[in-house]
Amino acid sequence: MIESVEELPITDRDPAEMSNEELTAEWADVADATTRESLVGDEVHNTAHGRRKEIWDEMVSRVDAEPPECPRCRAQAWTQTPGEPKECTECWLTLGFEHEDLIEAIDEYWTTVQTLGGDLDLGGDQA
Ligand SMILES: [Zn+2]
Repeated sequence: MIESVEELPITDRDPAEMSNEELTAEWADVADATTRESLVGDEVHNTAHGRRKEIWDEMVSRVDAEPPECPRCRAQAWTQTPGEPKECTECWLTLGFEHEDLIEAIDEYWTTVQTLGGDLDLGGDQA
């Protein structure tokens, strides 16, 4: 249970300035907090989810990958609560057995983003 913003496993660093390792490490912490912990109160909840989105958006910007489209509304925005089916955040299509390939494609995309392409040593300048 997390009852104050100070207890959240997050930093206030600018995601754009963080290294790939720092991003994936903080992602793991904040994802864990938002999925496994009970966040008490709106401020804690909103801060955790806001930071989670900031980190995610920065990771998305660093990978060359696109989420698959929703077969119903063509949106590319998926969500999933642990233990629940995946859903489109636009039209709330719930994915089931008939969407096996799509579910796999979304999982692959999420893994790609969360591991920044599966290759943390992306090269580039180390300065
Ligand atoms: Zn949709």
